[in-house]
Amino acid sequence: MAVIDKDEFNEKIFTRINNLISEHGLIKEGELIALALSGGKDSVLTLHALKNYQDILDFDLVAIAVDEGIEGYRSHGVEAAISNAEDMGVKLHLKSFKEEEGFALDDIYENFKSACIPCGVFRRNILNKTAYEIGANKIATGHNLDDEIQSFLMSFARGDTIKFSKFGPELDVIHPKLVPRIKPLWNTPEKEVGMWAVLNDIDIHLEECPYSKLSLRAKIKGFLNDAEDRNTGVKRNIMKSFQQILTFDNDINTHLNECVICGEPTSSEICKACEIKRDIEGN
Ligand code: SF4
Repeated sequence: MAVIDKDEFNEKIFTRINNLISEHGLIKEGELIALALSGGKDSVLTLHALKNYQDILDFDLVAIAVDEGIEGYRSHGVEAAISNAEDMGVKLHLKSFKEEEGFALDDIYENFKSACIPCGVFRRNILNKTAYEIGANKIATGHNLDDEIQSFLMSFARGDTIKFSKFGPELDVIHPKLVPRIKPLWNTPEKEVGMWAVLNDIDIHLEECPYSKLSLRAKIKGFLNDAEDRNTGVKRNIMKSFQQILTFDNDINTHLNECVICGEPTSSEICKACEIKRDIEGN
């Protein structure tokens, strides 16, 4: 097997990320970027990449970590988030489901087909609220190329075309209280993120979430990895097709209201987080 030159590899991966940020104007001078830092490889690479990008552009960077309350799993991720933020000199805002919502994911997951449903809803909610409160202009996430393809196929599988508006490296401002998202790793394959972490001996949270196996995402991820192993290039081709489809069909309704209960942005009358809390409380 060919030996990989660490410096060359780092140069390649960071150049690609820098180019994506510049070409799509993901960050503007003077902005405050809030990074969603889970402590996993993707968010930690995003932390390094944004820190590097501060040499190119003058902007501020903070991180937000959300502890969902998953016994034996999440605390390791939070530790990795804290130590990486400290190493990089980035201020970290630490939030938890327990403090923000009054329950841990472990307390409520049994009410759902998959724990990922409430997990994603409340995590997105807490991230957005925190970023909005601290005055962040954008939230940067560690979504990589593989995540993007999986999300697209999941939306297809669910017939949820509204989600198509969430594809691409940058999401538009569609509501004043919804902090727009950017994805600096949008065109970086997951495999390369893992290689970067190993080659550079980065302290990351490696364990897999105990709930992940039950999710639709895990099934689609397994299918895609299997297809890629058999036919190299399948993932890139799917991504190219998505980009072409989205170029032809941009007529997607992204109008948002404010939730009548909590005031957070939502496409319905009541936001998903309040809907779930109402169901849990049996009201
Ligand atoms: Fe949450 Fe699901 Fe991710 Fe686990 S795999 S952290 S439950 S979204």
